[in-house]
Amino acid sequence: MMAFFELSPIMAERIADLYSRMEKAYDLVARRLDFTCDGCPDNCCDSYFLHHTYVEWGYLWVGLMELAPERRKSIENRAAEYAAACEKALAREERPQLMCPLNEEGRCSLYLHRLMICRMHGVPSSLTFPNGQTKKFPGCFRCQEIVGGRQAVPSVERASLLRELVAIEQELLGEQQGQLPKLKKTIAEMILSGPPRR
Ligand code: SF4
Ligand code: SF4
Repeated sequence: MMAFFELSPIMAERIADLYSRMEKAYDLVARRLDFTCDGCPDNCCDSYFLHHTYVEWGYLWVGLMELAPERRKSIENRAAEYAAACEKALAREERPQLMCPLNEEGRCSLYLHRLMICRMHGVPSSLTFPNGQTKKFPGCFRCQEIVGGRQAVPSVERASLLRELVAIEQELLGEQQGQLPKLKKTIAEMILSGPPRR
């Protein structure tokens, strides 16, 4: 029988600590660019992203389980609507642009449990690989306008943060690492699937 991947309190603390350091790294760059989301005409919570770690999925569920059942139910209903609309868009070979089921009145209803991609989107960032090659992420459209033609642009380096996330993931999966399906889920799918199982 499949069992839940229960995040131990220590594991949950570790991911919370890592998430808060991601936030600090983001804020530092945002401050240097004098960039905030205030007054943005867009809401990037409608961006289509797939997420790849069981530990983030598990920690999202730690947050969902803290909500009152009726609140969780309405999130699940929105997730079902999202998943159906997403499937239609993908069938039309379009990139879905749908509001995340966790977004309520423009705000993230599980802010402390939002995933790494949600924490990185906005300011410029980079990911340096062990071979020295770097992938650059320019930031959201609004940040790109602010950055304009600047020569030296501060950015968040994701590599060490991602390495830590992978280390926590490996610890969670233990011997099952490599035996479980490779994860590729939207937040809606993570909600609809229930907590991750082994
Ligand atoms: S989890 Fe929160 S921050 Fe991330 S897309 Fe959904 S509403 Fe936005
Ligand atoms: S990250 Fe950029 S696009 Fe998203 S809400 Fe903030 S300013 Fe707007």
